[in-house]
Amino acid sequence: MHELSICAAIAGIVEQHAEGRPVEIVRIDVGHLRQVVPETLQYSWELVVADTPLAGSVLEVNHVPLVVRCDACGESTELDTAVLRCPCGSTDVTLTSGEELLVRSLELVDA
Ligand SMILES: [Zn+2]
Repeated sequence: MHELSICAAIAGIVEQHAEGRPVEIVRIDVGHLRQVVPETLQYSWELVVADTPLAGSVLEVNHVPLVVRCDACGESTELDTAVLRCPCGSTDVTLTSGEELLVRSLELVDA
């Protein structure tokens, strides 16, 4: 499953940065184009981190909308689909957000 492999990748990054310290919350940005369901991602996270040092940590998913900037009319528009076209009809657009998949911050348990 798509979400499981994403969570495994995130867990690897988090473990690297936590350096053995207990992690409480992991906040990530996920772009619209990644087509992941936040709830599924959170559930997958629990599966992936079970029996690891990250067990019990919470994954907070920040959904980043797909936004394009039109090179024809200059407008920025949030899109629901992966059809990159400005409402003005132009497909001459620049993707400004929507492809994110990054770990934004970790909240560590105070030792
Ligand atoms: Zn336009």
